[in-house]
Amino acid sequence: MVSPSTKLYGLIGYPLGHSISFYIHNAAFRALSIDALYINIPIEPESFSKAILGIKYLPIYGLNVTIPHKERIIDFLDEISVISKLIGAVNTVYLEENKWKGENTDFGGFLETLKELKLDKDLPCLILGAGGAARAVVYAVIEYGFKEIYLTNRTYGRAERIAEEVKKNKNIEIKIIPWQERHKVDEKLILINTTSIGLDSKSTPWNGNFKSIAFVYDIIYNPKETPLLSLAKENNVPFKNGLDMLIYQACLSWNKWFGFIGPFEIMKREAEKLL
Ligand code: NDP
Repeated sequence: MVSPSTKLYGLIGYPLGHSISFYIHNAAFRALSIDALYINIPIEPESFSKAILGIKYLPIYGLNVTIPHKERIIDFLDEISVISKLIGAVNTVYLEENKWKGENTDFGGFLETLKELKLDKDLPCLILGAGGAARAVVYAVIEYGFKEIYLTNRTYGRAERIAEEVKKNKNIEIKIIPWQERHKVDEKLILINTTSIGLDSKSTPWNGNFKSIAFVYDIIYNPKETPLLSLAKENNVPFKNGLDMLIYQACLSWNKWFGFIGPFEIMKREAEKLL
């Protein structure tokens, strides 16, 4: 539904061709008869500052933010949540009391799925990757209650930085494993992939055995079954892809825009049509 009073929401990032946010938010607006429209707003990195200043003067009521702007957006906001500050990234922007505020719903989205899965907190978890998404995942596994956390990344220094920050902010020790040695961990553990390895449907970040793996979580959602998840399936290890995390982060953005959590099932049904 579009009317003269339709309220605009949107996604900023670059490029945006891969995103399904346009479809899931608009499907939910239609289903709930909300007079709003969600649009893609591709902003090239060179134009970021000017575009954001412009957007602030347009009748836009809320934004999602994706690669490569999740960190840069922070400087343009009046206030960000505590968790966004810890993670160093914002993916949801909303207007409140005439101020532009920022939240990170990747964190909440991932956390919701952990709660649903009821994974055993007493098992160690091994997180593969130390990019932007990994930061939200690390704070979510801490919030969920995992006590023993291993982190490994191709670029060692990035993992080291996350571990240092977590130590400073939460006084929690994350153990770093060099990327080449990740398969040597032989404790029973939960494996979480936050790298982009598998997006191509061909590569896997884990070639080790699955005997010691209790659960595999790959936050990639397209393809729905990455080679890592296919290997988990072949080895009878329970697994999950990143679709529910993605849907929950979208639902939690609604909480900031409308004051209630978005309709999970409607958004998920729409996403499944597309993937
Ligand atoms: P980043 O670019 O910030 O990080 C990419 C990560 O992958 C880094 O750790 C990088 O290691 C690693 N990596 C990439 N290529 C290789 C390789 N060939 N060998 C070893 N490591 C590699 O991306 P994001 O963190 O933003 O996103 C990562 C993934 O998470 C994407 O696939 C994305 O689709 C998914 N995602 C899913 C979400 C969901 O809601 N389900 C939300 C956000 C992201 P290095 O540091 O060495 O470069």
